[in-house]
Amino acid sequence: MRFFSKLPYIVKILAIATIVAIGVILGGTLMMKFSTSNVPVQAKTSPTVTTTVTAQPNSEPIALPTANIPTNSTPLEISRTLQIEKTKTQNTIISNQIAYGHFPYAQAERSQMMLIGSYATGADQRFEYLNTEAVQAFMKMTYAAREVGIWIIPVSGFRTIEQQEKLFQNQIKRQGSEEAAAKISAPPGHSEHHTGFALDLTDGKSPKKDITLAFENTDAYRWLTKHAQEFGFELSFPPNNKQGVSFEPWHWRYVGSANAAAVFANARNQQ
Ligand SMILES: [Zn+2]
Repeated sequence: MRFFSKLPYIVKILAIATIVAIGVILGGTLMMKFSTSNVPVQAKTSPTVTTTVTAQPNSEPIALPTANIPTNSTPLEISRTLQIEKTKTQNTIISNQIAYGHFPYAQAERSQMMLIGSYATGADQRFEYLNTEAVQAFMKMTYAAREVGIWIIPVSGFRTIEQQEKLFQNQIKRQGSEEAAAKISAPPGHSEHHTGFALDLTDGKSPKKDITLAFENTDAYRWLTKHAQEFGFELSFPPNNKQGVSFEPWHWRYVGSANAAAVFANARNQQ
């Protein structure tokens, strides 16, 4: 240290400056080495991790719903539009004229109908509908009958003009002529069933008497002739009716609401 203290002042300064400069250069290169060796490690690992992680959840859950939605939605949309078109074309009066004693009736809207029960079993089972205004009265009537051991079953309720057309054509084949068929079944556009206020009934305990004159000899018919009126129902075609339609003991109509009564009164008064 003696040697250093004897050196001139300027040399001392230079010596210190050189040592500091070497230190700075060494330190700088070391830092560069560390930083450059770390960066590639991070750069290599992070992108591979993020790409593999994001690729899987994106592709799988999106692929599943997009593959299912088109196959399920298209048939539903098609059937919905077909139904709307059907009701539009069917909801028409096909005639204002009386046909073989049957008054003309417009087909009511399907949206006004409510399920009242089913008829037959297995492959023959079908579901029957009535106008919502008549449903509660019908249910009350069948429950009242059940309490005294009478089992009333709906055979046929609301019918479209298209359904009536099929029934009537089958009847023509059986009876031989339109006139003969009309004594048993109303021509399309002339059935009280189009209104949703009329229905055919049978006795659950005498299934062989469905839609036959033999229904007249059942407990259900006898009970109906006494009590149906209390619930707003009446026989449409009693024996020797003014319309001249054959006696139909099974065919009843609801006249217990203002709308229902008006539908049948208008049909009568228009003639
Ligand atoms: Zn009927």
